[in-house]
Amino acid sequence: MVVYNTFTTFVHTWDSILDQQKIKHFFQTAFRNNSIAQAYCFVGDEGYGSDAVALTVATLVNCSHPVVTLTSANPCGTCKSCLSAAEMANPNIHFLFPLPAVKSSSESGASPITLLTEQQFEEVSSEIEKKKHDPYYTIAMSGSDTHLINTIRFIIRESSLSLQQEGKKCFIISRAHRLNTESANALLKTLEEPNPSTLFILTTSQPDFLPKTILSRTQVIHFEPIQQHSIHQYLVQRYQLADKEAQVFSKISDGSITKAVSLLSDDIQQYRDLVVELLRAILRGGAFRNKTRNLLAELIEGKNKKQCITFLQLLLLWLRDAFTASVTNQIETITNIDQLDTIQRFGNHYKNANFSEAFRVIELAKRQIDGNGNIQLVLLTLCLQLRTYLKV
Ligand SMILES: [Zn+2]
Repeated sequence: MVVYNTFTTFVHTWDSILDQQKIKHFFQTAFRNNSIAQAYCFVGDEGYGSDAVALTVATLVNCSHPVVTLTSANPCGTCKSCLSAAEMANPNIHFLFPLPAVKSSSESGASPITLLTEQQFEEVSSEIEKKKHDPYYTIAMSGSDTHLINTIRFIIRESSLSLQQEGKKCFIISRAHRLNTESANALLKTLEEPNPSTLFILTTSQPDFLPKTILSRTQVIHFEPIQQHSIHQYLVQRYQLADKEAQVFSKISDGSITKAVSLLSDDIQQYRDLVVELLRAILRGGAFRNKTRNLLAELIEGKNKKQCITFLQLLLLWLRDAFTASVTNQIETITNIDQLDTIQRFGNHYKNANFSEAFRVIELAKRQIDGNGNIQLVLLTLCLQLRTYLKV
């Protein structure tokens, strides 16, 4: 599976942001009217593009030669500031993410990165490298769960210093719901009296975990899921996925690039084969219980709950295809097009199946597994229900 390829460094411009037309328009208008606020909170699931937009806004307000027309405002992408922003090395742009706990603490406001162990530092560097090549990549350090007080002290010190180069000091606090109480209180003070040449952008998928006092100091911007065809195009262009594969991934990614990319490391082809095998076992004659149980054991082996949910999404897609083939016959909308023959045969054989109930129980099983239900039990119950609804 292709996971990371030889990408070129990502220069931040609006063209490289997927969808989010309203938000792109909003910031270009604000820039042209010189009305960019001092603090924003971007709310949306990971992979909708809040980090990518934050980095583009920061690049724009720091660009030496922004390209401004009557309807648009884009970073030039070629000046020193834009190029260093692309390298995640612009002295005015600070991209901050949760870090693992460290023993030492710094009162002075030194960069929190300097307090990490050598091993942690290497991990941070490799994560930043990935983010550099793909602003939709979610940085995840092992053992990291909070924005440490050191990070906020760093922000306070940096924001009080005068600018070393033109533009605005931008602090992007990614996954801001990971601020602990101490960090949130310290940040609040800075947000209450911001330095005029600073811009804060908090990004979060869980705004309910942010103190209301912080939210009320920011302008909240809501992000929408990314459309399937945009994710499809992104996977083909940036991850060199085959068209057919990209179509499957885009349909089970729930509008999130992060989710689509995280699926690349799973063996989706093996899952798809298992879907067909499992359906065959469920619909067998007498020995179906044993066959189903054995297959489920094979399926669960070594898989975490996310992977089991991915399997259920593929099962759902496959049955939706079978429904399409037998009822609506709109072949062009079938996802598993490489399995068209099997799907059509299945669809014809189970024309009277209660597909809507089958879809419902699969969705229910997904929720139960997500809520930490016993995976084996949930899947076994699901198989028995599917047997009832499909074999009518
Ligand atoms: Zn520029």
